[in-house]
Amino acid sequence: MRMYDIIEKKKHGKKLTNEEIEFFVNGYTDGSIPDYQTSALLMAIWLKGMDKDETLKLTLTMAESGDMMDLSKIEGIKVDKHSTGGVGDKTSMVVTPMVASLGIPVAKLSGRGLGHTGGTIDKLESFPGFSTGISEKTFIDNVNKIKIAIAGQTKNIAPADKKLYLLRDVTATVDNISLIAASIMSKKIASGADKIVLDVKTGSGAFMRDEEGAIALARTMAEIGNGHGRETVAVVTDMNQPLGRNVGNILEVEEAIETLKGNGPKDLLEVSLTLASQMVVLSGKAKDDVTARKMLEETISNGSALAKFKEFVSAQGGDASYIDDTSKFEVAPIVEKVCAEKSGYINTINTEEIGIAALILGGGRETKESIIDLRVGYVFDKKLGDYVEKGDVIATVYASDEAKKEQSVRRFLDAITIEEEKKEVPKTIKMVIRD
Ligand code: URA
Repeated sequence: MRMYDIIEKKKHGKKLTNEEIEFFVNGYTDGSIPDYQTSALLMAIWLKGMDKDETLKLTLTMAESGDMMDLSKIEGIKVDKHSTGGVGDKTSMVVTPMVASLGIPVAKLSGRGLGHTGGTIDKLESFPGFSTGISEKTFIDNVNKIKIAIAGQTKNIAPADKKLYLLRDVTATVDNISLIAASIMSKKIASGADKIVLDVKTGSGAFMRDEEGAIALARTMAEIGNGHGRETVAVVTDMNQPLGRNVGNILEVEEAIETLKGNGPKDLLEVSLTLASQMVVLSGKAKDDVTARKMLEETISNGSALAKFKEFVSAQGGDASYIDDTSKFEVAPIVEKVCAEKSGYINTINTEEIGIAALILGGGRETKESIIDLRVGYVFDKKLGDYVEKGDVIATVYASDEAKKEQSVRRFLDAITIEEEKKEVPKTIKMVIRD
């Protein structure tokens, strides 16, 4: 078999066989097929697409390129949750303790920030001492004992995806439904959960900008999960503005804690309750979404979700006293108001640009080696649909460096459109897809 022939075939829009898909995925992973040929094939896939069978085969081959985690030592039905990535998306820190406090095992592998989007692992490292590099044994023991563990993706989970993702990132081939679906679902399948809830983001801060594309991606991923015996529900949610009010690692942890204490912003709570309800129903603990939602609301009002979060942070070495007293978290040295430059309604927020503004402050990685400044970011006072007078505070910036702050705030203000006529605010939850 020759890689040249596979590229030629896909260039003409023909369907690849299982053997051809295995040949290029395994060959690229072991280094026998070079970057330039794989890039050409990725672009041919981007232009001509893959059908259902090809996408499923690509996913499974990528999943099997490394370790397949065995979670059978964990009692009960393990439900995982995954977001396609957004700005201000701290739902994992709200959803997982709520679900675990109902006795449902949560064994979650999370990622670090990617491009303009944040990652749960970076956020959790805001707790001094917290470790996401726990062994597989500790991971399994913790889930059995306290029902929750969150670890970083180990090197050998879907290594084909790791290599392919880096190549896609630099060859403008990220935003393709088959490639995203295979990338995400290969990791989910390899990490062993029985059931999966996906949060598929759409809008200016998401990889899939238009709603139609996000729905198609959600359907494709649900089909892959369900077709592979992992019952999957996908929820399409809005990312035309940051979720909640806080963007930046420590700031987001503080907002998640406030949400668990019952003082969370409406949109964050809505997305968290919707995703968590699906997890509870999939686990078999509730017969429908309405019952599940009631049970979850109680975990906040009776304090059990907050208590579970503390237990979880302690179990992974973190200092949980920061949860009772969030003023212990380090604050950035520069804290300033960001004000509206004109009067009117906030009609659009280019959310990718907000993510980049936070990244410029040092809140994300410019290169793989960058060290994140956990303290920096933005807290929004106003969001889509709000009216502002010129000079009103839109947000507060938390920075560690004057020059970076200047550059970031300019980018932040340029990302926000203020107009005389109010535009409709996009709905937070767009759709729940079960099959
Ligand atoms: N997240 C992933 O893990 N892969 C993609 O392709 C896009 C988002």
